[in-house]
Amino acid sequence: MATRRTAAALKAAVPDGGRHWHALALMLLAGIMMGVALAGLRTVADRGQEFSSPGRYNEVWQSYSLSRQVMNLAATADAVASGVEPPIRLKLRLGVMRTALLPLLKTQIFEELNAQRPQIQATLAHLDQTTRRWDRELSWQDVAASRRLAATIAADLSDEEPDLHALIVAANIAVATHSDRQRQALQRTFHWLSLALLLLAAGCALLALKIILDQRRARRLANDLHQLNLSLERRIQERTQALRDREALLQTILDSSPSDVTLIGADQQQVFYVSDSLLIQSGAEHASRFSLAALFVDPAEHARFVARLERGELIYQMEARLCPKAPYWALLNARQLQVGEQPAWLVWCFDITQRRRQQERLTRRADTDDLTGLSNRRALLKATVKHLRRRRDMALSVLLIDIDHFKRVNDAHGHDVGDEALRVVANQLRSAVRDPLLVGRVGGEEFAVVLPETPLAEAVTVAERLCRLVATTPLALASGPVLALTLSIGAAERRPRESLKQMMRRADRHLYQAKHSGRDRVVQSEG
Ligand code: GH3
Ligand code: MG
Ligand code: MG
Repeated sequence: MATRRTAAALKAAVPDGGRHWHALALMLLAGIMMGVALAGLRTVADRGQEFSSPGRYNEVWQSYSLSRQVMNLAATADAVASGVEPPIRLKLRLGVMRTALLPLLKTQIFEELNAQRPQIQATLAHLDQTTRRWDRELSWQDVAASRRLAATIAADLSDEEPDLHALIVAANIAVATHSDRQRQALQRTFHWLSLALLLLAAGCALLALKIILDQRRARRLANDLHQLNLSLERRIQERTQALRDREALLQTILDSSPSDVTLIGADQQQVFYVSDSLLIQSGAEHASRFSLAALFVDPAEHARFVARLERGELIYQMEARLCPKAPYWALLNARQLQVGEQPAWLVWCFDITQRRRQQERLTRRADTDDLTGLSNRRALLKATVKHLRRRRDMALSVLLIDIDHFKRVNDAHGHDVGDEALRVVANQLRSAVRDPLLVGRVGGEEFAVVLPETPLAEAVTVAERLCRLVATTPLALASGPVLALTLSIGAAERRPRESLKQMMRRADRHLYQAKHSGRDRVVQSEG
């Protein structure tokens, strides 16, 4: 029960596919946040570099510089116009002034000021055009023309002063506005960066939480697995012990069984069990050498036994002679069963030698005439049938024999003498034929002799020999008297499809005729 609970808990704890997406989503989120944070850092670094680059926003200084150079140019133009300075000085000063003008022509800073931009661009364009023109027109070889141009320059430049002042103011405002915009953008970037870092921190925290939870679950899982292992080991030990106990019990039962037992593989290769007495009797040195084939005295009987088992038959009380080295009669019970995956045969052998002997004794007694020791009528018929079974078509004759006037023996000498006389005649008959089993006492002083493979003529010869033997042999009885006996015999040969009873009846009729025709003779046909 506990094991089943642990197994269920284990199953629940084992992560399934659905749980992976949590970790994947968290990792993806952390990745995105990391990307955003890196991009933000890059932007901040760029902006910072922009702020810190030297001369990045020096339009103010350039405006001042231009204004000063314009004033210097005006002063130099005055000096050249008045002949204090040579025209070359004006040419040089003009070049310096244009140098100060060029950066302001290129700068984009004034785009910050939508209202003032046209005015500023017009001022700068005007300065550019006029100074370029002056530079072209100024010739230091023609001093007079140069002085005139210098006077014009001085006059023109004095008009420019307000515009230059406005330029300086605009440059200041533009730089300040641009810096403000940059600061704001940087601040926004900082905001986004902070948010990304915050989310990144949250994602990392969730990831850490998941790792902690997973570790806890893994610890619980390992613990449950350990418990499951312990429980399984305990159950295996219990089962193994129970199996060992059962095996020992079975061994005790089999060892103490009054019958011999063997459990052998159906392939007759593997012997699972063989009781000690059976092993000893079979003559095998070791259980592995034991075989059913060697157990049976009669190989044909072994083949029949195996064939029945292979057909899956249940063998019940089959009698067979076992152990050729010390043969005994056994009653066999056998059946097929499974030992694991392997089919096997369980064979019980019960020693019935005593019973067989007793049976044989009883049968012999039942078949034997007490007085003479000859077969009785039933045994004689049984022995005859046995012969006929072997060869149905063989010639078979019977002699029905009756002692003549036997009553007189009893009357003259007593019943005991009569009994003794009967035994003597019986011995004479027995010694005169080949198979003593085929000589029987079938009535008080009546006997029968069955002669297999003997046609009637030969049977009559035998009968006549018997008549002569008894008639010519005076019976010297142990009790004293000497008797002279004769026999009357009726002979008959079995006809085709005639029953034994019918043949006997015919022989009886012939005996009757022998009696009526004077006794001490053989009659073989109805007369
Ligand atoms: P028959 O020539 O006509 O056969 O005359 P029988 O006297 O032999 O025949 P019967 O049938 O008249 O008499 C048979 C006698 O056999 C009668 C009986 O006393 C005797 N007998 C039958 N069985 C035994 C036996 O077991 N022991 C002795 N001692 N006598 C027996
Ligand atoms: Mg008689
Ligand atoms: Mg008789």
